[in-house]
Amino acid sequence: MRPVPTADATPVSPVRIGIVFPQLLGTYGDRGNAEVLAWRLRVRGHPAEVVDLRAPAPIPPGLDAYILGGGEDLLQASAVKLLLGPEGRGLRAALAGGAPTLAVCGSLQLLGRVYLDKAGRRVPGLHLLDLETTASGPRCVGEVVARMADGTLLTGFENHGGRTRLGAGLEPLGTVLHGNGNNGEDHTEGVRHGNLIATYLHGPVLARNPALADLIAGNILQRRGVRDALPLPPIDDDPGMALHSERLQAAGFGRRPHGRLRLHTRRRGPREARS
Ligand code: GLN
Repeated sequence: MRPVPTADATPVSPVRIGIVFPQLLGTYGDRGNAEVLAWRLRVRGHPAEVVDLRAPAPIPPGLDAYILGGGEDLLQASAVKLLLGPEGRGLRAALAGGAPTLAVCGSLQLLGRVYLDKAGRRVPGLHLLDLETTASGPRCVGEVVARMADGTLLTGFENHGGRTRLGAGLEPLGTVLHGNGNNGEDHTEGVRHGNLIATYLHGPVLARNPALADLIAGNILQRRGVRDALPLPPIDDDPGMALHSERLQAAGFGRRPHGRLRLHTRRRGPREARS
């Protein structure tokens, strides 16, 4: 997208959202997160573009945001190997510097200390988050509903064998109301650490959860110094809001005719994968 001239004719460089190693960390359409984020910025008048950061090229540190998708065990291990080497130096620096980042499933795992996969391999992580993951028991598969600290409900689907435990000081992204989340036991889902958001939710998660997408979009604009653009205005006929309600209802969190949200908090244990 070409820069759009502002009122004083100063061109605004587009927000650049990088998709990290899409051919390795691209399970379940997670690249859609970058597309949704760019779209939600553009419709508010902020030029934005999605940049594919394909392995094994080194990842540049200067992008406005980074999106890391899920990955099957072997591809995840290949991605980690590169991310721990010179190819990952830019991403590690960007994360340490507080770049807005979304990491989904396998990428949540690889930001931690270690992932013990189902074949018993010890895959070292990037040590950027105080968490550990061990693959054990049946895979966690199905719809998830979680509640963020401000009350926002998150919807997504999960499919993972790894069970993640957060270190004592780490804040989860939400509390699980339905499904498994980080481990199916302690009701935690994901991680929120500064501008870094990590989650087990696919969907893609930003398509299903406009409030989460706008949280990241707001962080991006704040870092660029576009503070007068915040809070972001609502989008007319927001397709994200429609999808959000539809998926919550599908998981049994619908609205009653009189408008109150019906929360059923029955939790299920890990379920076997159907395939
Ligand atoms: N390989 C990881 C697991 O099965 C992550 C899967 C994923 O990213 N969906 O736990």
